Amino acid sequence: MRVALWLAAEVGEGGRFVKQQLREAMPGVEQIDRRMRDLRPAGWAIMTYRDRAGLAPGELLLEKIGLPVWEKEHRSAGLRVITASTRRKVFERDGNRCIRCGILAGEIYPDETEVSARLTVGHVEAHKYGAPSGEENLVTECSRCNETAKHLAAPRFDERQVWDEITELPRKDKQAVLAWMAAGKREPSRVERVMSHVWQLPGVQREEIFRKLGRSLS
Ligand SMILES: [Zn+2]
Repeated sequence: MRVALWLAAEVGEGGRFVKQQLREAMPGVEQIDRRMRDLRPAGWAIMTYRDRAGLAPGELLLEKIGLPVWEKEHRSAGLRVITASTRRKVFERDGNRCIRCGILAGEIYPDETEVSARLTVGHVEAHKYGAPSGEENLVTECSRCNETAKHLAAPRFDERQVWDEITELPRKDKQAVLAWMAAGKREPSRVERVMSHVWQLPGVQREEIFRKLGRSLS
């Protein structure tokens, strides 16, 4: 947990740093990225320029210092690692979309001009430390929804604004919003389900379907 100690001592909450500084501070420590990621379940928040405007590419922001994982009683929090294969399975199960807002990996947020979504794995049980990290307790969330759930990001809209937007929707869309909220997650539409199957076909077969469909509609 030397990475955590270094961050707390040398960078401090709200401080900026670059990976190279970390590498130089602890020569021989491998997989610096992974070590930083492993601090997340213990409540640490390290942001990149993709998460925060104003950061240069390569620059990192220690937004929040989480549990002191170097202390014996908190050591397990930082060790609760989600393996790459679990992460992959959870993403696949959820269709590579944030289950809260529905955005796909790499897609630009509809309400922002150039921020693209990065998927992360969140906990169903609202980020209770020590909660089981099996697949059944994990969900795909984009980093934005994940931070909102953890109260790391300030709310960007107030209730009235959002309510006004909802009231302007046609009835059918209002029902969709209600259903989405009730489910607590996004159910892919029939079109999306079909398309995800289309994309799993080899290219030649996909082209054949494209031609057939075009003909049937002309
Ligand atoms: Zn989201």
